[in-house]
Amino acid sequence: MYRLRFHGRGGQGMKTASRILGTAFFLAGFEVQDAPRYGAERRGAPIFAYVRADHRAIYERGIIRRPDLVIVADETLVSIPAAGVLDGITPRTVLLISSTVQPEAWREKLRLANPVFTLPRFGALDDPLEQRYVGAACAGAAARLVGVIPRDCLSRAVRDELAHLGEAVLAKNLDAALGAYDLLPAHAGCVTEAPEPPADTYDQPRWIDLPFDDAGLSAPDIFAPATTEKVPTGLWRTVRPVIDYEHCHRCVWICSTLCPDSTIRVNEEGFPVIDYEHCKGCLICMASCPSHAIRAVPEEEAGKK
Ligand code: SF4
Ligand code: SF4
Repeated sequence: MYRLRFHGRGGQGMKTASRILGTAFFLAGFEVQDAPRYGAERRGAPIFAYVRADHRAIYERGIIRRPDLVIVADETLVSIPAAGVLDGITPRTVLLISSTVQPEAWREKLRLANPVFTLPRFGALDDPLEQRYVGAACAGAAARLVGVIPRDCLSRAVRDELAHLGEAVLAKNLDAALGAYDLLPAHAGCVTEAPEPPADTYDQPRWIDLPFDDAGLSAPDIFAPATTEKVPTGLWRTVRPVIDYEHCHRCVWICSTLCPDSTIRVNEEGFPVIDYEHCKGCLICMASCPSHAIRAVPEEEAGKK
């Protein structure tokens, strides 16, 4: 059985990528299972999706713990442990990363001897906030690396899954998927099916001891902000809202009230201050600021500064 896992951020099309690849496998004669797993509710949050494909009926369920291929649409996730990109990889797991960094540099950085392939950006190069076709490209490259999916099955799968988006969008996705497929002919078949693990090697259910908490935390009413504050949702951000205080008019009832996560506080001088530990980067504040005093800075760029 092939076990493949896609990692990306909400909005990058990982669910769609898993559907395209699943359909392509199906058209190539396989039994298929594909499913996304959302950890959170919005764009930018780490999510993953997975595909199982076999010539026999698939009885295995649940998330894939020992992947044959890990596909990463957003390279910034690799270094975030909570995203679980490297969870369960074995020496035979192949990594495919959408990145301009060379495979050798990735191997060195991750201290891995595994086969690593990188995928250049497809489409939307002029849009720094979004890589619209990365999902289709990842599906196309994955289809090539498994080596058992003919090009026309991939093409039909993209059409089946995305026809509802209209001809123009479909054409862009087809370009991305087939372009990525055509990039890696020398590596077709490098992803191989893992041998079936014996039943007695399956993980036992993990029991979790839940100690009694203070009623202020454990009762079904929310009395305190303790739990939400402990979730650093700032990790989800791909772009950062930055306030230009020269142009800010201190109308904080607008941005601080509209922030869905209450991460904009007001300082003693009456200026808004963003809590970047918890700001998710939805940019509602930027869209609602009447003075255009908030701009979006890609997280990579902000990190360098
Ligand atoms: S809405 Fe804009 S101008 Fe008003 S306080 Fe917020 S950042 Fe400043
Ligand atoms: S981007 Fe703005 S509105 Fe969205 S969470 Fe961050 S501060 Fe709040």
